[in-house]
Amino acid sequence: MIHEMRKRGMNITQIAHELGRDRKTIRKWLKQSEPASYQRQVKRPSKLDPFKDYIRRRMEEGCLNANVIFDEIKAKGYSGRKTILRSFMQPLRPAAIAKATVRYETSPGYQAQVDWGRFRVDWNREPKRLYAFVMVLGYSRMMYVEFTEDEKLDTLIGCHLRAFAYFGGRPEVLLYDNMKTVVTDFDERGHAVWNERFARFAAHHGFLPRNCRPYRARTKGKVENGIGYVRKNFWPRVKTFTSLDDLNRQVRHWLDTVANIRVHGTTHEQPRQRLAQEGLKPINPIPFEEVDRHARKVSLDACHLPFHKTLDQFDFSFQPSIDERKIRELATLRFLEHRENLIFLGPPGVGKTHLAVAIALEAIKQRYTVYFTTAHDLVETLQQAHHNNTMRQKIKTFTKPNLLIIDEIGYRRMEDTAAHFFFQIISERYETGSIILTSNKTYGAWGEIFGDSVLATAILDRLLHHSTTINIKGESYRIKEKKKAGFFRPEGNSDKSESLI
Ligand code: ADP
Ligand code: MG
Repeated sequence: MIHEMRKRGMNITQIAHELGRDRKTIRKWLKQSEPASYQRQVKRPSKLDPFKDYIRRRMEEGCLNANVIFDEIKAKGYSGRKTILRSFMQPLRPAAIAKATVRYETSPGYQAQVDWGRFRVDWNREPKRLYAFVMVLGYSRMMYVEFTEDEKLDTLIGCHLRAFAYFGGRPEVLLYDNMKTVVTDFDERGHAVWNERFARFAAHHGFLPRNCRPYRARTKGKVENGIGYVRKNFWPRVKTFTSLDDLNRQVRHWLDTVANIRVHGTTHEQPRQRLAQEGLKPINPIPFEEVDRHARKVSLDACHLPFHKTLDQFDFSFQPSIDERKIRELATLRFLEHRENLIFLGPPGVGKTHLAVAIALEAIKQRYTVYFTTAHDLVETLQQAHHNNTMRQKIKTFTKPNLLIIDEIGYRRMEDTAAHFFFQIISERYETGSIILTSNKTYGAWGEIFGDSVLATAILDRLLHHSTTINIKGESYRIKEKKKAGFFRPEGNSDKSESLI
């Protein structure tokens, strides 16, 4: 490609401008892609051979990052070194970039690019920030734009669905340029870690999200970056708008009467006309929310919470010994981040389990993993596992979650082996994962619970090292409710009447 440009009489400056690269790079490419006449050409099979077609295609899509491609082919079974990949990619770079600037750089229906742009507006004389979601189909250049007030995941998912509806389907691959809403992190190898819910959304509707900086030629508005085009061509046309809906009506009008019917600089065709050849696939007719709700419910079920009650359902005025500010601070989950423990002490019915559950729900909302068990079930499960020789796996149930809740310690005395199993869980989680614990016994009485004061001390040592204790002194809420209902019988068997509720 570069050599052809040279033959057409273009100088290095012109080529550099055309390809949007600087002159030094072009010179380097010219030199590298000169025929190496003095080198002996011995063709040896390379570990890279089976992946070469794939690499060429990815580069033509605009992915020129060797680290990204290395991870991708490694996942496909490549066992060679990165340097081999680099030297294979190097001479292909100019061709890939040149190709990305001419027609047909992506096949119909294959791919689209997605981006957020930020726009500042005056809203009732207050400065306000708006966001523009832009999706551009790679083959046709068909564009969808929508303004939003935030970049949240739900907003983004909605924008995707409306874009697919506007296009009449979805492409195979969507490219994201390190978009924070969906790329939550990078693993040790620099591989994108996708937001779990977004990955499920993509899988549900059948497209593949990819994180890669799409190549953008900065040449005379050819493959213009979508946001840049909106900023230059649409934004100056906006005189006023009365609401976000109004602005979105205006941008839709612009898409229909300008952006998608102009004769495109690179394709020399109207995006709207080329759209027909994309042959986009329909999205899943089942709404994502339905499966999403189910997935959430399943993940909630897997936590084994005895009931679902939130902090807002907790009446702090009934329990003045509890410092509400302290509980609200705990609900920010900083203690979880720091792998600290939280212990609720107090007599029955004062809300220990309620508060533990409320904090667990907060943790689940923030996508931490949670497991709830009573102390009794915990040791029973472990004893059973010990008996069946499945101890290793079972222990994971209690050590893997970010938050383990052990409810009702001290309601029953533990036997010898039980206490040792309990100790094992506490020490395996020590400084690696948080525990919320509830007990009706003061620490002084724990020797009795475990039947062994040395063991109790060892357990308390680890539990309390990084921890917060909330001591609740007060009346049982259950009794309050019964009083209100008028069937509280103080002389009756309180254990039995409690179980009625
Ligand atoms: P504990 O675990 O301390 O024995 P629970 O948390 O199980 O007590 O509380 C018993 C019942 O009373 C639960 O249904 C709980 O939701 C309710 N409850 C306890 N304290 C309060 C409170 N302050 N406000 C609202 N509900 C409460
Ligand atoms: Mg309880």
